[in-house]
Amino acid sequence: MQLLDGKFVSEKIKLQIADEAANFLNDTGRKPHLVAILVGNDGGSETYVASKMKNCEKVGFKSSLYRYDTTVTEAELLDKIAEINKNADVDGLIVQLPLPKHIDPEKVTEAIDHKKDVDGFHPINLGRMMRNLPCFIPATPYGILLMLQEYGINTSGMHCVVVGRSNIVGSPMSILMARNANPGNCTVTLTHSKTKDLKEQVLQADIIIAAIGKKNFITADMVKAGAIVIDVGINREFSTETKSGFKLYGDVDFDKVAPLTSYITPVPGGVGLMTIVGLLKNTLASAKKTIY
Ligand code: NDP
Repeated sequence: MQLLDGKFVSEKIKLQIADEAANFLNDTGRKPHLVAILVGNDGGSETYVASKMKNCEKVGFKSSLYRYDTTVTEAELLDKIAEINKNADVDGLIVQLPLPKHIDPEKVTEAIDHKKDVDGFHPINLGRMMRNLPCFIPATPYGILLMLQEYGINTSGMHCVVVGRSNIVGSPMSILMARNANPGNCTVTLTHSKTKDLKEQVLQADIIIAAIGKKNFITADMVKAGAIVIDVGINREFSTETKSGFKLYGDVDFDKVAPLTSYITPVPGGVGLMTIVGLLKNTLASAKKTIY
């Protein structure tokens, strides 16, 4: 078993991004600029946004955060997005999900200029991804592709089973793994809560991508010997053992599953760190106008 080490790989790629950001500053007199909008005080969202902002600073990007109370109206949020869309000093705009119930996430996603949609959630980017055209790939799937690439894993011809079909992880991941590209060229099975024979499906997998949101959901009896396991899950539980007061668990029962695998990502220290790299790479590509 070999660990797919998100810490090592993300630090390595961030050094390359920092180099490119320094060259960009030299050439243009400005830094790549990411703007985030955060509504409310959800603990997970606060942590993710803080980490995105911190990593921007680390690689030499400018970052700005607009915070709103949960009482913000949809119209106010859409106005702000329209203003940021027009600001030539901004390269990337993300709105941290989830949003309060009175705000339609689809409207918000579609309001973002697709040329600044560095989360890759806009229908234009998803449509272009589907057609294998240059686009912003959603940050988490992009991070997973970068991780597979970094370890030189050739996925061609593999059977990939994705568990979870969300718009941000499972569904785009299934499309990317089926594309005529490397990583890609897999035969893909996309499973979800209505899948009848989930265990049998997962047992067929050469590569399992788990994005469910349930601690220890993928157990050892679901994993074929030698499989590659990518654990996207981030399940937070209160803990007295850590300084932060909570502990993170993946969707995979790591201790029992890891010995069976050829490669596996840990949680924490795996996909989460690569997601930030995906976001930074998209923001840099936007600044350098290499996609649009
Ligand atoms: P969602 O809640 O949007 O989707 C979960 C998916 O899991 C759904 O498609 C659901 O099926 C499926 N599912 C739920 N229960 C079962 C079950 N019993 N059997 C089979 N499938 C099931 O989650 P996300 O995709 O947004 O996130 C998944 C996990 O990944 C979470 O823990 C999240 O925190 C984490 N995450 C981590 C990131 C990172 O950077 N590492 C980034 C984004 C998310 P159905 O559609 O039928 O309801």
